[in-house]
Amino acid sequence: MTIKQYAVIGLGRFGVSVARRLHEAGHEVLGIDINEERVEDAEPYVTHAVVADTTEEKALNSIGIRNFDCVIVAIGIDMQSSILTVSILKELGIKKIIAKALGKRHGQVLDKVGAEWVVYPERDMGERVANQLLSPNMLNY
Ligand code: ATP
Repeated sequence: MTIKQYAVIGLGRFGVSVARRLHEAGHEVLGIDINEERVEDAEPYVTHAVVADTTEEKALNSIGIRNFDCVIVAIGIDMQSSILTVSILKELGIKKIIAKALGKRHGQVLDKVGAEWVVYPERDMGERVANQLLSPNMLNY
């Protein structure tokens, strides 16, 4: 397996789940959050974790974000920060940007500013649960 370098921005439940799984699979994972407590809580699940405001280009440059194979933007509620972060990453030349969207409009903007893949955790999980319920093995529900 080729070890890859991932950066996960936003260490809420979604961000930490992504980071943890990639780290468990043997990849290098840098966790980033503006909130110090979130960074401390995520430390056991990532290779490194740092406090930074990713809406500041200077902060992203000092982290060396250009060296990462893929950046996952897991900021949701603060839509402005999510969109600004993706657009700066795009300007810096990051090819693989994955971004979490809370809704359709948010997702459309993320797509426009340069996210390669937009994920909708709530919608996708809802569909998954319904599909499970509809599967023949789950007739009891
Ligand atoms: P989840 O649903 O994944 O648990 P959440 O409910 O904590 O997430 P979100 O708004 O999606 O809410 O925030 C995810 C994380 O993004 C938070 O930990 C927040 O501190 C972080 N974050 C928000 N703005 C920035 C920023 N400008 N730079 C870095 N991290 C940020």
